[in-house]
Amino acid sequence: MLMATSALLSAGLLTACRGRVAYTGPEDYPVRKGSLSEMDYTPRSTEFHLWSPAAEEVQVQLYETGAGGDAFETHTMAPGRDGTWHVRVKGDLQGKYYTFNVKEDGSWLGETPGIFAKAVGIGGQRGAILDLSGTDPDGWALDRKPELGGPEEIIVYEMHHRDFSIHASSGIRNKGKFLALTEEGTKSPEGLPTGIDHLKDLGVTHVHILPSFDFSSIDETALDRNRYNWGYDPLNYNVPEGSYSTDPSRPGIRIREFKQMVQALHRAGLRVVLDVVYNHTSNARGSAFEKTAPGYFYRMKPDGTFANGSGCGNETASERPMMRKYMVESVLYWMREYHIDGFRFDLMGVHDIATMNEILAEARKVDPQVFIYGEGWAAETPLHDGADLAMKANMAQMPGIVAFSDELRDALRGPWDDDAKGAFLAGKTGEEESIKFGIAGAIAHPQVDMERVNYSDQAWAGQPTQMMSYVSCHDDMCLTDRLTASVADLQPGELERLDLLAQTAVLTSQGVPFLFSGEEILRDKKGVHNSYRSPDSVNAIDWSRKARHASVYAYYKGLIALRKHHPAFRLGDADLVRRHLEFLPVEEPLVVAYRLSGHAGGDAWKEIVVILNAGRKAVPVPVGAGTYTAVVRDGVVDENGLGTMTGPELTVSPESALIVFQGN
Ligand code: CA
Repeated sequence: MLMATSALLSAGLLTACRGRVAYTGPEDYPVRKGSLSEMDYTPRSTEFHLWSPAAEEVQVQLYETGAGGDAFETHTMAPGRDGTWHVRVKGDLQGKYYTFNVKEDGSWLGETPGIFAKAVGIGGQRGAILDLSGTDPDGWALDRKPELGGPEEIIVYEMHHRDFSIHASSGIRNKGKFLALTEEGTKSPEGLPTGIDHLKDLGVTHVHILPSFDFSSIDETALDRNRYNWGYDPLNYNVPEGSYSTDPSRPGIRIREFKQMVQALHRAGLRVVLDVVYNHTSNARGSAFEKTAPGYFYRMKPDGTFANGSGCGNETASERPMMRKYMVESVLYWMREYHIDGFRFDLMGVHDIATMNEILAEARKVDPQVFIYGEGWAAETPLHDGADLAMKANMAQMPGIVAFSDELRDALRGPWDDDAKGAFLAGKTGEEESIKFGIAGAIAHPQVDMERVNYSDQAWAGQPTQMMSYVSCHDDMCLTDRLTASVADLQPGELERLDLLAQTAVLTSQGVPFLFSGEEILRDKKGVHNSYRSPDSVNAIDWSRKARHASVYAYYKGLIALRKHHPAFRLGDADLVRRHLEFLPVEEPLVVAYRLSGHAGGDAWKEIVVILNAGRKAVPVPVGAGTYTAVVRDGVVDENGLGTMTGPELTVSPESALIVFQGN
C-alpha cells in the first residue's frame, strides 16, 4: 500500500481498504473530487462526508441541540475514494446537529463541525442539519445584481455592521445586525437619512462588509454584554456570523437575515463585497482544519510549529491542492447561495498567485463582473517563495485582481506605523510623486518618476483598475483622527479642508476609489489606532455628525457624482491614461496638478484640470490661456459651475482642490 498509493487511488481500489492509508506526508494527500459538501440533507436520509486522508477511524455524532447535552447517536463512517469518509443516516434529521471526530495515530482529535459546515449551532461548534432552500427570503429567486459596466465604475464603501447602526442616532431598529441594512426610511435626530437610504444617497456602488462569516471572538450566548470585534478570527468560513443575526441559536435565522440584507442592498442598487480571511484561522491546533487533516492546511516550520505570515499565530497553505480547492469552493458558495458580488482578501500576500488566479477565473464564470481585491502584503514574511505570493509587486501576474495602494494612502496621511507623522496633508514636501503615482492608478506613466515614489520602485498595475485608491480604512486611525494626530497646530476649519483635499485625490484617481464608512460625515474613533475590539463608544458612528458636517457630506456626494458623470476620471485603461492624463509642470512644492484632455474617455468636457494644493498658502498654477469653468473650489462641488476663471494661471486656495473644465 505504501508504494502504490497513487495507483490504488486512480484505480479506486482504496474503497475496499479499511483503515489507514500510509502517506509519506500531507503533500501526498489526494484531493477530494467534486463538491466539498459535508452534509447533504433529504427528508428521508442525510449523507455525511469528511475529507480526512490520514484518519484511522471517523465518527459522526448526532445531537438534539446546537450546544450542550450528549450525542443521541454515533455513526462510524466508511473510508472511500480520495481520502474521504462517508455515512448515510436514515430518517428525517432536519433540526438536529452533528460533529465529526477523527482518530489519527491512535488518538481522537476532538469534535468539529468539519471544514465546510453551511449552518451551525450557537457558538459554531456543531454543524446544523437543515434544508437551505427553506432559508430563502420571499423573492430571493428574483434577486438580481445591480448593473455594472466595468470595474472602472466601482466606488467601494467599507463598513462594519456595528459601527454603522449601533449608535442611538442611527434611528435603526436592528442595531448591529444584518437586518440594519434592510431598514428603509431611517433618520438621524436631525431628520437626515441614515442606513441604506444614506448609502443610496451617497452614490457608492459597492458595500464592503467587514468579516461577516462566523468568527469566534464574540460569545454568541451573551450578546447583551455589548461586545465588539472586527471579526478577523475565522471559525466557520461558510456560515454567516451569529452575533449579527437576531437569534444565533436558530441556525436558519442568520442565513435568512444575511440573504435579506443582500436582497435589500441589491434592490437599492448596491453590490455587496464580503471581507474574506482565508489566510489564517482564529485557533490553529483546535481548528476544523487541524481536526480533520493535521498539518495539511497550514504552512508548518520544520520543527512542527505554525508559520505566522498572518501575524495571528498561523498561516494557511493555499498552494496545497485541497486548500486551494477549498478557497475556490468557498468563494463560489458565497456567490451562489448568498449572491455575493465581490471579495476583499485579507492579507492576500499570504496566498499564492495561482490560487488567486483560479479564484478569479472560477468566480467570473458565475459573475463576469465579480470584483476581487486584497491587501497585497502579509503581516510577517510567509513561509513560501515570495515570487509565488499574491503580493503587490507581483500584480502583473494577476490581471483582473486588484490591490490597495499604500503608496497613495501614506503619501497623503503618513506612514502606518507612526500616527504622529504626517505627509502631504500635514504639509510635508517630497510626497508629490507618490500622489501622482496614485492618481495614475499605479500604472507605468512617463511623467511619474518611480525613483521618487515611496515603497514601490516600479509600477505594479497593468491597468489603473488594478489599484484601490484610498486614504483610510478600518485599520489604523480614521482620517479625522489621523489629521488631528499628525498636523501641527491644527486651526479651525483646517481639518475639514484637508479631509476634502485627501478624498479629492482618492475620488479623482484612475484607480478604484475606496471610502471608509463614516468619513463622509467626519466620524472619529477617539484617536484609537487599532480599534478591533474597542467598545461601541469608540467605533460607533454618530449620525448627528451628518447635520453638523452637511457641507462635508455634500462634497463627498458631489465628488462621487462628478466621477460617475465624467468618464475622464475613470478611463479604465492604461494606454488611455497615458494618452489623456498629463501632469502639469509645477514649481511649488505641495502641489500636484494634472490635465485630462481631448474629451478623455468620451467625456463631455474637452479639457479638465485638477489641482491639489496641500500648501498653507494660495498658489498660482500655470494651466494655459483661456477661460475655465470651476466645478470644485474651496470645498464646494457643483457640476453646473462655480463661476469662471481665466488662465494662463489659476490660483488655488490653501489646503484645497480646484477642478475646472473647458469646452463642452
Ligand atoms: Ca461566531
